Amino acid sequence: MKVLVPVKRVIDAYVKVRVKADGSGVETQNVKMSMNPFCEIAVEEAVRMKEAGAASEIVAVSCGPQAAQETIRTALAMGADRGILVQSDEALEPLGIAKLLKALVEKEGPEIVLLGKQAVDSDHNQTGQMLAALLGWSQGTFASKIEPADGKLKVTREIDGGLETLEIKLPAVVTADLRLNEPRYASLPNIMKAKKKPIETVTPADLGVEVAPRVKTLKVGEPPVREAGVKVGSVAELVDKLKNEAKVL
Ligand code: AMP
Repeated sequence: MKVLVPVKRVIDAYVKVRVKADGSGVETQNVKMSMNPFCEIAVEEAVRMKEAGAASEIVAVSCGPQAAQETIRTALAMGADRGILVQSDEALEPLGIAKLLKALVEKEGPEIVLLGKQAVDSDHNQTGQMLAALLGWSQGTFASKIEPADGKLKVTREIDGGLETLEIKLPAVVTADLRLNEPRYASLPNIMKAKKKPIETVTPADLGVEVAPRVKTLKVGEPPVREAGVKVGSVAELVDKLKNEAKVL
């Protein structure tokens, strides 16, 4: 069973994001970039499936600029077998990415596409769902457990107030939630081995997909600055302020 894992290059989750002075977006020049944390969880799950004998090959895909190759290399160092870079300098949107992934699915023939539930830079949480719709495949989103069995997948999903378990037919699109697993760190020997694993480069035009943006960003701004707090002298004063100033009691 082949597994395709789309991985996105995003600003590192521990970097403080700065808004560009002209409000057109966020600063990405000289900023540390890493693999989207939910994509790391997806790669880890695919590698565990391979280690358990349920997956035969893992193909990591990233859509973006040439530098997204680094993100693919990280996936290869974690255990993916080969990579595909869909190279584009356009601002790619979830629908465009889902169309690129659909074209790759048709070329590669995987039985599972395992994505992150969400990219932490744009917070879209759309690509997996759009891909499943475009392909007409089953989908299991926000997975916290995935169990392959007889041409099907049992997917436990995190939903409001609890867990939902679904049985879905293959081929399927699954998106990884936080509690699915804890991704491994790539070991030095595996980082060295990953340098020799192949990465193919294609363009959206090669795949016959139009990725021109459909959404225009009007403005990006900083969140409002938090006002300084005050120290109160007693519980009575606190209750008085909550009642009469904040009016929350
Ligand atoms: P989003 O819908 O943008 O929140 O992203 C959800 C998931 O779609 C990510 O965790 C990735 O698995 C995949 N994805 C989004 N953008 C890209 C991209 N540019 N290249 C590869 N995969 C992507």
